[in-house]
Amino acid sequence: MTSIWLDESAGERYAPLREDATADVAIVGGGIAGVATAYHLARAGVGTILLEARTIAEAASGRNAGFLLAGVAENFVAACRRYGEKNALRIWRFTKRNQALVRALVRENEIACDLAWNGSDQIAGDDEEWDEIEASAERLGREDVRVRVIGSKRSAIYEDDGELHPVRYVRELARSAIAAGARIHEGSRARAVSCDEVEVGSARVRAGSVVLCTNAYTSQLAALRVKPVRGQMLATAPLARRVFERPAYANRGYRYWRQRADGRVLVGGWRDTAADEEIGEEERTTTRIQDQLDGFLREHAPDALVTHRWAGTMGFSHDALPYVGRMANGVYVNAGFTGHGMAFATATGELIADIVRGVRRPETDLFTPERP
Ligand SMILES: Cc1cc2nc3c(=O)[nH]c(=O)nc-3n(C[C@H](O)[C@H](O)[C@H](O)COP(=O)(O)OP(=O)(O)OC[C@H]3O[C@@H](n4cnc5c(N)ncnc54)[C@H](O)[C@@H]3O)c2cc1C
Repeated sequence: MTSIWLDESAGERYAPLREDATADVAIVGGGIAGVATAYHLARAGVGTILLEARTIAEAASGRNAGFLLAGVAENFVAACRRYGEKNALRIWRFTKRNQALVRALVRENEIACDLAWNGSDQIAGDDEEWDEIEASAERLGREDVRVRVIGSKRSAIYEDDGELHPVRYVRELARSAIAAGARIHEGSRARAVSCDEVEVGSARVRAGSVVLCTNAYTSQLAALRVKPVRGQMLATAPLARRVFERPAYANRGYRYWRQRADGRVLVGGWRDTAADEEIGEEERTTTRIQDQLDGFLREHAPDALVTHRWAGTMGFSHDALPYVGRMANGVYVNAGFTGHGMAFATATGELIADIVRGVRRPETDLFTPERP
């Protein structure tokens, strides 16, 4: 079954690439990462061609929950343990930049994507996580982050997080990229890439630089450690009453839900209960996961009627941070968002556009694909 977002979005169609072409930069992949990269390059006056195998935002970017969170999927204490406090703070600020960019691009380009800033609720699944959530809130509070701890619910509310309609956002941003001069071809699967060429069927794009924005599918074109992992969701018909005030994620980000302004409830995740099955590129729902999503729904909104069930493929990196930069073979990459691309990719699109243009950026080392 298709996602609620794709079902609601007819979308323009862009013709496949049929003839050889040239560009300053060729981008492979038309999810949020590719489209944001195209947008930023085109706005900087760079001649850009984007090649998408399916349609814009048809893969993970059209199948997610639409949360715009700050930070990585884990709480801040866990992020400090993994990246060190200094880098965890740099990553946090980078995702705040992502939020600010989304806000600005939506306003400037008049993108109708139901963008709202109702905050997010981070909920503990066990005692250890609760301790970390409390400590994270205390630490980030000292950085002027607006966060509120709710002891009775063992949760922390991050007041400035956002939510949106991901397909409308990405497809309208694609339109803005085209208005700024980018070319987009759908139905155009790249079968081979090098640092200055992309092969699509019998046509070729010769380019000054090539950027892979192929997330879960990156290892089909380059030697990079991106692992395909499945995520599943469901959506219901609109409910007249409010069940959830704001997007929530629990159990270290493995379980999440939100209620849209129109009353529809969305529930996703529970991958941690079937980690052995939820790998690979198959966009297929399973009863094992969907039963869990149904179980949660029955507890909180037993009268809600499920209208959509879907699956999408995420691209996991080895350390849960995206790979953004130039690879050893000279091809650039902007991928590996580890289930968090709406939180990162508008800003990594800006970052890779700068890197390709030779603009120095202080964040480059954080996301370099060459890191250990
Ligand atoms: C169920 C689910 C819930 C999620 N919830 C959230 C959330 O709430 N917040 C959040 O931040 N993130 C969330 N994510 C993760 C988020 O959706 C992804 O991180 C993000 O969409 C990745 O964007 P992308 O552009 O890198 O990849 P994609 O959207 O997967 O785009 C990659 C594109 O590359 C194309 N492609 C691949 N190979 C080729 C080729 N050879 N030639 C041409 N094109 C090619 C594909 O067709 C695809 O369109 C969720 C993901 C899932 C599955």
